[in-house]
Amino acid sequence: MTIQKDKVASIEYTLKGSDGEVIDASSGNPLPYIHGHMNLVPGLEKELEGKSVGDKFSTLVPAAEGYGEVNEEFIQVVPVAMFQGVDELAVGMQFQASGPEGQAHSVHITKIDGDDITVDGNHPLAGKDLAFDIEVVDLRDATPEELDHGHVHGEGGHSH
Ligand code: ZN
Repeated sequence: MTIQKDKVASIEYTLKGSDGEVIDASSGNPLPYIHGHMNLVPGLEKELEGKSVGDKFSTLVPAAEGYGEVNEEFIQVVPVAMFQGVDELAVGMQFQASGPEGQAHSVHITKIDGDDITVDGNHPLAGKDLAFDIEVVDLRDATPEELDHGHVHGEGGHSH
């Protein structure tokens, strides 16, 4: 069996930035995902296609095939008064904001300059090239219910 659309693969991964700093890692808890359902960034799914259990590889996914390029329109300076009820603001804090059409999205603080707070609605990894070390540790068919939902269900079934 090889990785293709509608297979559930479990991978051990280490994600590093282009500077070599570790951003995230599975650390012995393999990540299961359904291939071909945009559960992972596109550049990584492309590399996983056709791989089998036991395959190990490293790949550098450019930002455009990762979390996308930084969109300057998603970066705004807002007054501190927007954050009423928050005791202390810090760079890196995340908030839910509503966009122009009322849709919820996540923003994070990138700069605090007196009463001017810079918030960024881009994904924190937008604009970054992503270096992955990958090992495929398990592979199976997705269940019909998983395909219906577009995500993997853990052992013991469904919790939502
Ligand atoms: Zn589900």
